[in-house]
Amino acid sequence: MPKPHIPLEQIRAEVEACRKCPLADGRTQTVFGVGNPAARVLIVGEAPGKNEDLQGEPFVGAAGKFLNELLAVAGLCREDVFIANVLKCRPPGNRDPRPEEIELCTPYLREQTRTIDPEFIVTLGNFSTKFILKTEVGITRLHGTLQKAGRFKVFPIFHPAAALYDGSKREALENDFATLGQLLRESDAAAQSAAADETAPGAAAAASSAAPAVAPGAAAAGTLSVTATSAAGGAPSAVAGEPAEPAIDQPRLL
Ligand code: SF4
Repeated sequence: MPKPHIPLEQIRAEVEACRKCPLADGRTQTVFGVGNPAARVLIVGEAPGKNEDLQGEPFVGAAGKFLNELLAVAGLCREDVFIANVLKCRPPGNRDPRPEEIELCTPYLREQTRTIDPEFIVTLGNFSTKFILKTEVGITRLHGTLQKAGRFKVFPIFHPAAALYDGSKREALENDFATLGQLLRESDAAAQSAAADETAPGAAAAASSAAPAVAPGAAAAGTLSVTATSAAGGAPSAVAGEPAEPAIDQPRLL
């Protein structure tokens, strides 16, 4: 029997009271996450930085502003998605999360994920990508490719903060968020096609044979120029190229 979902507010209260690892000693406050509790897209970053620790919200300041711009490229706004981090407390001096901290803190992210039940998990940077996909393959190779963890579609992207220090990452980030928007639209089209099949099987089959509803290549060359830019100039993408590789990689468990 599946485990019941824990309400987000209950998980939040547990996080606020948590002192499981030494990061509790240096925090101003915990950073639980923010956004739509029934979001279709869960964004998972690394850990709170200085501003996040002070404000109690993930992705504020320059990286947060850039994330908002990137979400717009995908046709999303901050209120559409839920944004959380692997760690809920700030590591001192913004150092990398330690394995023992990740082990102690990630049960909260697991529960958040179960409760929100997103269609897509967008992992920002190496730490969240490696944790969610249980892989040692780095973000440089994985970004912009559609993966799977359990029942969730996972789409790794560079951390927006990386582009603030390395301008060459900006184009890759914009391309990957454009591809995310394309994946969302394709998923919508597939759902509409399935619904049409259910309500009018004969009509849907005829429409399908005349004009395939889900055609990744056609979508990339379609009406949205930002998507066409991504497909033409972006990093390797599961939806931009020929269907030689499966769109969704080997299943992995969250
Ligand atoms: S980082 Fe996570 S495990 Fe450590 S004290 Fe904060 S909430 Fe608890």
